[in-house]
Amino acid sequence: MNNAEIVKKGQENYMHTYASYPVAFARGEGCYLYDADGKKYLDMVAGIAVNALGYNNKRLNDALKAQLDTGLIHTSNLYYNEKAVTAAEKLNKLTGSSEVFFCNSGAEANEAALKLARKYGSAKGKYKVCSMVHSFHGRTYGAITLTGQDKYHKGFSPLLPGVVYAEFNNLESVKEAVDEETCAIIVEPIQGEGGVIIADREFLEGVRKLCDEKDVLLIFDEVQCGMGRTGYPFAFMGYGVEPDILTSAKALGGGVPMGALLGFSKVKGLYEPGNHASTFGGNYLAATGANVMLDILAEGELLENVKASGEFLESKIKALCAKYSDICLESRGLGLMRGMQVSVVPSQIVSACMEKGLLVATAGYDVVRFVPPLIITKDQIDWAFSVVEEAVKGISKH
Ligand SMILES: *Cc1c(COP(=O)(O)O)cnc(C)c1O
Repeated sequence: MNNAEIVKKGQENYMHTYASYPVAFARGEGCYLYDADGKKYLDMVAGIAVNALGYNNKRLNDALKAQLDTGLIHTSNLYYNEKAVTAAEKLNKLTGSSEVFFCNSGAEANEAALKLARKYGSAKGKYKVCSMVHSFHGRTYGAITLTGQDKYHKGFSPLLPGVVYAEFNNLESVKEAVDEETCAIIVEPIQGEGGVIIADREFLEGVRKLCDEKDVLLIFDEVQCGMGRTGYPFAFMGYGVEPDILTSAKALGGGVPMGALLGFSKVKGLYEPGNHASTFGGNYLAATGANVMLDILAEGELLENVKASGEFLESKIKALCAKYSDICLESRGLGLMRGMQVSVVPSQIVSACMEKGLLVATAGYDVVRFVPPLIITKDQIDWAFSVVEEAVKGISKH
């Protein structure tokens, strides 16, 4: 099928939860995607911060193929599985967590975190969870309630009770929102969907201290900012602020759907048999993807590239902000999780770039987001910004 045929079939048969662009990809190689009509795109979206190794990565493909050849994709968590226990051990060693629960997505990981936090507080009458304004935690009921953006709540009331919101990077606001009935605070160290906003170090340190004083669990949602994206294996390592619970997904399986809940010492042993479950969680295929990702992260070279290419990307955004200051307002982010705040509707720039063979995304209301594969080179970023510049130039008065 060509692009037009696939798009038409999608429009006729999908439930329209997405306003998808009229393009369908047929294959990928490195940082490039090719659509069903053969048009080539440089991909700075990476399946929304999922495809950290790009496309057609030999190591990942070989491992997945070898796993398929064992005949096993899935058995059940009724039994142990070597790939999953190995991935769990790697995560514990890498982060200092004590135990791991595997699921299939970010929302599921956050649901698991929410339940664990409520269980922690249940004996003490603590059930409230404090989340941040502009946060994003997923689309299931608990997760949309945690998501501090009205647009995701509209039409879906009543939401989960016991969730309160504080302002991100405003410790006083968090102190006001937390009381004796609070069992957890959930924070993205770098807000992704909300507009690529990085937490101040003092803020996370202050929240950690508050949690310790008030016997409140600290949950870091690293679904988007984890797995090397910031130049650290997980963003919290760059801050030196350890959570009690960490959630991961997106890049965790290298593109295969996988989520995880990491429990640190304070919650060790809290989940008991029967408390929580996932049929597919940690299946052989997903865990194989995670093992490859975690090995590559541990080797360090990928993180070096994130730092070098990330700094270059930042310099490119800053250069545009200096040159077209009526359109490009601010450079945000860390590593290869970057945003450019703009004074126009960001999808206008996204569409102009797409036409010229570059994929970028939006975040929040006014941000163009760049979350490319972590293997992207400076040359590729350089080319990408010649395209972004053209798109901006087309609407700038400068
Ligand atoms: C994408 C995202 C989620 C939701 O993940 P899904 O896999 O879509 O459920 C949760 N939290 C953050 C920070 C995310 O970026």
